[in-house]
Amino acid sequence: MSLSLTVLGCDGGYPGPGGAGSGYLVQAGGRSILLDLGPGCLSLLQQRLALEDLDGVVITHEHPDHRQDLEGLAVALHFAEHPRRMPVLAPSGVRDLMYFREWEELQWVDVADRDQLEVAGMRLAFSRTDHGPETMAVLVDAAGARLGYSADTGPGWSLGELGEGLDLALCEATWTAAEEGRAQHLSGRQAGAMAREAGAKALLITHRWPTIPGSKVAQEASLEFGSAVLAARPGLTLSLPGTGK
Ligand SMILES: [Zn+2]
Repeated sequence: MSLSLTVLGCDGGYPGPGGAGSGYLVQAGGRSILLDLGPGCLSLLQQRLALEDLDGVVITHEHPDHRQDLEGLAVALHFAEHPRRMPVLAPSGVRDLMYFREWEELQWVDVADRDQLEVAGMRLAFSRTDHGPETMAVLVDAAGARLGYSADTGPGWSLGELGEGLDLALCEATWTAAEEGRAQHLSGRQAGAMAREAGAKALLITHRWPTIPGSKVAQEASLEFGSAVLAARPGLTLSLPGTGK
């Protein structure tokens, strides 16, 4: 038994050519949840999983590149032959922005800093990051493995808030060191240093701005992390070995 992560989309800010906004499929014990559902991700999800097999959605914050396709999911659930309800865990501001916010198929669960709860047999913990709107980083603890997702953040927050020694840190690295300070995001350099300081066992960088060269961001991150990092791309799947529990 393992915890698996599949990248649906990983573009920062807006989808680049052929890309999609942030969206990650997390599976353990035969159950499936999403971390974020940015533009383009609903289409890519259905190439891998029937919507009736999805057990829940986490939306980290209200920026459209992380939540836009939640509208399409609401439509699909509402008009399905067998309508069903779906837990949506998000900071309260997300629901307020939804066009279909009154439909009961989306079962809203407000999450705030330091909340902990269980969805689809996975233990989740949240930590508010350094980003404009209320934004929640997420720890997923399941199948004996721990995955930490930074969501969007500036350098005023740390992966260590999700716990030391993560099996995998999925961390935003929006641009290079030359762009540091332009907004509340991380460079590859900052992401690599943050993951090293938190003792993460592996680092997967994501949320690259579409016009920024990925090889440069990854190189910066690797230098600071101290070993090779992985760069997110649509379709990439990683399995985190568990303890057999
Ligand atoms: Zn973003």
